[in-house]
Amino acid sequence: MEQMITVIGAGPIGLRAATGLKNEGWDVTVLEEHSEIGVPENCSGLLSVNGLQKNKIDVSEVTVNKIFGAKIFSPEKTFLKIERKEPVALVVERAGLDKKLEKKAEKKGIQIRKNTRMIDVRKDTIFVQHEQRGEMMKTRFVVGADGAASKTRKLVNPKIDPKAFVRTIQVKAKGSFDDRLVEVHLGDFCKGFFAWVIPENKTTARIGLGVSGSFNARENFNKFTKEMEIEVLNESSFVIPVTRPIKEIQKDNIFLVGDAAYQTKATTGGGIITGSIAADIAVKTISDHLKHKKPLTDYWKNLSPLNKELELHWKVRKYFNSLNDKQINSLIRKFKKAGMEEFLEKHGDMDFPSKFINKMMLSPSKWGLLPTGLKVLFS
Ligand SMILES: Cc1cc2nc3c(=O)[nH]c(=O)nc-3n(C[C@H](O)[C@H](O)[C@H](O)COP(=O)(O)OP(=O)(O)OC[C@H]3O[C@@H](n4cnc5c(N)ncnc54)[C@H](O)[C@@H]3O)c2cc1C
Repeated sequence: MEQMITVIGAGPIGLRAATGLKNEGWDVTVLEEHSEIGVPENCSGLLSVNGLQKNKIDVSEVTVNKIFGAKIFSPEKTFLKIERKEPVALVVERAGLDKKLEKKAEKKGIQIRKNTRMIDVRKDTIFVQHEQRGEMMKTRFVVGADGAASKTRKLVNPKIDPKAFVRTIQVKAKGSFDDRLVEVHLGDFCKGFFAWVIPENKTTARIGLGVSGSFNARENFNKFTKEMEIEVLNESSFVIPVTRPIKEIQKDNIFLVGDAAYQTKATTGGGIITGSIAADIAVKTISDHLKHKKPLTDYWKNLSPLNKELELHWKVRKYFNSLNDKQINSLIRKFKKAGMEEFLEKHGDMDFPSKFINKMMLSPSKWGLLPTGLKVLFS
């Protein structure tokens, strides 16, 4: 029962999809344009413990820190402190995670062709460049997991909205940090996203900022870090797809997954857990088609529970994007007064906001925040 499926991109989502397809009995090849998996590294590597456990993502050996909560700062530096007794998230070494997934895929017998860039796909033919030479490959299905700047996306959905991306700058820096909590900073200086401090330990952290539209990431990052006593060890700059779920992610024999399909959380930009869930759904859709002749267009239907959550992330993002410094200051003070810190400690979920919103609706003490909640839901 062998079918040829080609996955474009050996990031965490492409490798997850390839491994899933192989487990279903299909013959899979992965194409990766770089010579080394996981490089260059463009990620903060913060992953929820729940998401990791539920999706069986093994990060042992690549975990560098355990996170117990967050401090969310308003522009006037009032903050909500949400802290649990148990770790809520892990900070992982991202290149290490990708390499771990590579080993797992290779152990299953999946061929990963490095230095091989997909150039074009026409029906069942993939045109690739391998070590500067052009080649053609035959395939029955293509899974485009080629990340934020996906070429496969252009084949499925050529209309790309430049507003659907956040530009980020992140550094690894030495300094003095609270190693239990991440910091999230909101305000006009990071319009369209936020700034963050993610500790690896007490003396090293990943510090970054994202902006959307015409805002200048570099200038604002410098403003954000100006007062910090840090020594920058390295720096990277990359984009994160941030938008609402997009329907045009499958066409004929081509599927998009992960960042290529904009399957990130618009609130935080995190895409490893949500992309992994989507990869499993793509695997199921392709397998159901091959085994039971179910339509490939079921992909969108099968994604619906995930897309409901991604849509909520988008609504929260849109609402926060509409606020100025003064309004964020007032909102954080209002949240503090309404006991949101304790509430988030109990019910907050980094990946699935619907659980938390349902709980909030059922909690009379939080009904004072209902107008805000309605603005979010209907924004
Ligand atoms: C600054 C920053 C911080 C982030 N922090 C977090 C975080 O804390 N937690 C989280 O969950 N997510 C985070 N993300 C998002 C996360 O990095 C992505 O969601 C994740 O990498 C998506 O995986 P992917 O496999 O879809 O794409 P990628 O990881 O981008 O992998 C795509 C692969 O495809 C290859 N490729 C591209 N084009 C071609 C081609 N034409 N032919 C062959 N190969 C090709 C690339 O070389 C790459 O290896 C962050 C992103 C950024 C930019």
